[in-house]
This record gives sequence, structure tokens and C-alpha cells, in this order.
Amino acid sequence: MAIVTIGPMLKHARAEGYGIAAYNMIDYNSARAIVEGAQELNAPVIVQVSVKTVKHWGYTPIAHWVRDLATTVDVPVALHLDHCTDFDVLRRCIDAGWTSVMFDGSSLPFAENLEKSLKAYEMTEQAGVGLEAEIGAIGGVEDDKHVNEDEARLANFDECIRFVRDMPNLAVFAPAIGTAHGMYKGEPKIAYDLLKRITDQISIPIALHGGTGLTEEQFHRCISEGCAKVNISTMHKMLYVNSFVALKEQKPKLEEPLSFIANQNAAMKEDVKSVIQIFGSKDKASDARASLATRH
Ligand SMILES: [Zn+2]
Repeated sequence: MAIVTIGPMLKHARAEGYGIAAYNMIDYNSARAIVEGAQELNAPVIVQVSVKTVKHWGYTPIAHWVRDLATTVDVPVALHLDHCTDFDVLRRCIDAGWTSVMFDGSSLPFAENLEKSLKAYEMTEQAGVGLEAEIGAIGGVEDDKHVNEDEARLANFDECIRFVRDMPNLAVFAPAIGTAHGMYKGEPKIAYDLLKRITDQISIPIALHGGTGLTEEQFHRCISEGCAKVNISTMHKMLYVNSFVALKEQKPKLEEPLSFIANQNAAMKEDVKSVIQIFGSKDKASDARASLATRH
């Protein structure tokens, strides 16, 4: 099927209490593992792309890969741009065919973040694509942005309410609730009380960033509290590299590149499938499909 916009699929997930995996793709092989893994479990999925990855491959190739992969399956697939601060990149992704984008103004003072997020909202509403926006500061490393432990801060509840007030169609809201990008050094401290206060007042689906390293129990609790989009990046990157290297170590004489690519694909796909099972989105594709809007 054609790729879908993110809003309706996430609304369905939040209403039904499951999470949709948002995987950060690396190349065609990784995008294919994400889409095929979702198809094998009949689950909706989000192929998400970092700004760094977009700049590496270019806008058109990525849009073509994902749109083409989506047509080979019958589960809903969305193409989303992860953390972006640059309006030119947002515009170019929208023009190339992305179905949603994230504007990340979380490093700005609240008023400026709100002003710029509203500008991004207007842009996405006009184009008919979804928007994700963030407040607070999620810790860790994402692309070239480093937020150390002292700088990471939870979203302020009152600011959350004010932030979403003028964005009724915001597809997904990302308040910082204590999770972090990259690998966790200690036990993640998730502010469940803050998450619950937010979801009691705000019906917009919530994004959970920094999924790699959380336990099944933590995922279940966050998803049951309204986190409908769950981001996985670090684990996918690790599998991409390690599955390639491990095969060479096991079979030093092997020189056929396609064998390495197949091994990478299998490792990444297995992880996608195990995550889909944990998030509860297995077999949700048919239900989700009914509420979707596609983008041609
Ligand atoms: Zn993130």
C-alpha cells in the first residue's frame, strides 16, 4: 500500500493501548528489514530517518526506497523525519514525500520553541503531513547533539498544556520524561507521574524517545500510559555493525558481499519482530488500516 500519515495510526494505537515501533533506518537494507519485519507480524510501523542519514543519502533516494518498500506490503508504513531543527530540511523532506516530520526546538527557551513549533505546525498542516514536536530536553546523544545529564530536564507540565493548545492536530507530542538517547549508563528514571499527568489532560499520542535499553516492563508501562510511538535507534545501529563484523569473524574467507548484507538483514529483522511483540502491535495492521490516510 502507499505510505501513510502518522497521525491516524498513532491515534488508533493510543486508543487501543499498543505502541508502534519507530525505527531509525540506516540504508536500504535496514529500511527493508524494518518493513519486512512489520509485514511478517502484520504490524503497522514507522520508518524514521535522522537528519544525518538524510544528508548522507539524499532526500529523493530515501523517499523512493521507503515508498517503494511500502507498496510491496499490506501493513501501514509511515516515513518520518527524526529530530530536526532546520526548516529547510523540513521543507525538503515534505517536498520529497515524507509523511511526517519532527521539529525539535527543545534546546530553545519555551517561548521560542513554541513560536517555531507553531511555524512548523502551519507548514505541515498546509502540506497534509504529520508533525511531532518536543519540549523539555531528552538526555544523551542524537545525531551531533549532545545533552549531558546536567542539561537533560523533564518537561514542565504547565508548559506542556500551553504548548499543545494551538496545535489541535499535532500528530505526536514528545515531552521529556526521563528517558535518554544512546545506551543508559545507570537505571533509567522514568517520570511516570509526569507522564500520567500529561496523558490525563492531553489526548495527543505521546512519543517515547530513547527506547534502546528499556525493559519490557518499562515499555509496557509507558505504552499503557499513552506512549504510542516508541523510538528505537541505538540497538538497530549496533546490530547493523555487529552482524556484519561477526560474520567475517566466523568465516574469514567469505568474500561475497551479499552474504554479509543478508546476515545484517536477518539480524535487524529479528530485532524489529521482537520489539513489535513487546509493544503489542503484532496483528494490529488490519485494524489500523481502516483509520488511515495515505499520501501518494
Ligand atoms: Zn529522539
